[in-house]
Amino acid sequence: MKYISTRGQTQPQTFSEVVMTGLAPDGGLFLPEHIPDFSTQCEALASLSYVDLAVTLLDPFVDLPRADLQGLVEKSYATFDVPDVTPTVRVGDMHVLELFHGPTLAFKDLALQLLGNIFSYLLERDGGELNIVGATSGDTGSAAIHGVRGRPGIRIFIMHPQGKVSRTQELQMTTVVDDNVYNLAVDGTFDDCQDILKSVFGDLDYKAKYHLGAINSINWARVLAQVVYYFHSAFAVMRETGAAEVDFSIPTGNFGDIFAGYIARRMGLPIGKLVLATNENDILARFFENGVYAKGDVHPTLSPSMDIQVASNFERYLYYRLDEDGDALRKMMQQFAETGSLALPHAPRDGDPFVSGSGDTAATLAVIKDTYETHGYLLDPHTAVGVHVAKRFQRDDVPMICLATAHPAKFGDAIVQALGEDLAHHPTLDALEGCPERKTALGATLAELRDVVADAIEHGRRCD
Ligand SMILES: *Cc1c(COP(=O)(O)O)cnc(C)c1O
Repeated sequence: MKYISTRGQTQPQTFSEVVMTGLAPDGGLFLPEHIPDFSTQCEALASLSYVDLAVTLLDPFVDLPRADLQGLVEKSYATFDVPDVTPTVRVGDMHVLELFHGPTLAFKDLALQLLGNIFSYLLERDGGELNIVGATSGDTGSAAIHGVRGRPGIRIFIMHPQGKVSRTQELQMTTVVDDNVYNLAVDGTFDDCQDILKSVFGDLDYKAKYHLGAINSINWARVLAQVVYYFHSAFAVMRETGAAEVDFSIPTGNFGDIFAGYIARRMGLPIGKLVLATNENDILARFFENGVYAKGDVHPTLSPSMDIQVASNFERYLYYRLDEDGDALRKMMQQFAETGSLALPHAPRDGDPFVSGSGDTAATLAVIKDTYETHGYLLDPHTAVGVHVAKRFQRDDVPMICLATAHPAKFGDAIVQALGEDLAHHPTLDALEGCPERKTALGATLAELRDVVADAIEHGRRCD
């Protein structure tokens, strides 16, 4: 399987190349040349363990020997605290897919544990070094750091918007004091961090000179890893309910998680609707209502990992909406870069699975409270947005699976606001208070980032 760029000006590349590169040289995102169809194999797949399912689904996409892939997948999910990796539990008339059983208690561990292992594998096989530069609105950073901490041949530089991630999220990053980990606290918003990131990766000479690699959700391996739990949970819920298809509700920020659901559907998993749920930062929800994608200001909310205006993975979906026309997409993205807005020429065809809605702070708090009081189940604020929007689209005869993207203890303040009591705890997080921390303050400019990265690589210099 080869990979092409959404902007159509990159030679096809292998999975190993794509994983190491991140963004395509023409500024586009990588996608597989074709998507394998598993629709006739669903019955056989349904009885596999998480690991075996992952290996079977990933195998056609990757250029690694199957036995090696098996080893990488096994190692990646052995760090989870339940054997089933991503269990689905019933909460009232919905099904909650718990994606928070990994080391940092958010769904991003599913992808980043695997990505860390793939990086190490490829570096060992091919030699060389890798300097990961990333930006986080909260959860990506800690999951990425935990994916590569202490690994030989890898450094990681993670920008986060100073003061705009929760204290717990911050601690999950800054308390990782391994020498290959650089936490950069940027004086700006998450979108500023993403802009700087795009620019640094846009400078191909700099990128090659310093062996930069990406770990943010544009990395294809992340999307791929996330496809697996759509299959795993759909099978579990279909088995439990006897249904022939399922709907999913996904709390959405960068469009990575929900895009994995879209790929799962294109791979033949019987998904009816994909419910796109946003908080007050609703650029994507509005797009799926009126076809116009227009950038606004970022509003801080209770669900900071979704406080995003420009969704980095959205381009992949646009590519399919434009019938895989890289030239048309390139023009559209140029226009978006210039004007901050774009509009699709035609409405989605019948069979487009997306529906959308948003939930504000009041709705988020109300859903957390109601779910706890009625069912004794604590939702984190991101998951609560998904559950809130899911209620609008729930169908009588099709089970609704709501992705629980983080453990509620990661967002304890929101739980206190909703319930008046500090009910959400997790031993992993409670242990972080008082641990030594490491971080470097950074202005929101490309120049400052370039200096910090170059200094560390050339002189082994740390400024924290
Ligand atoms: C990253 C994140 C999201 C948003 O996922 P995207 O792939 O960016 O759409 C939602 N909830 C939590 C808890 C997250 O960490």
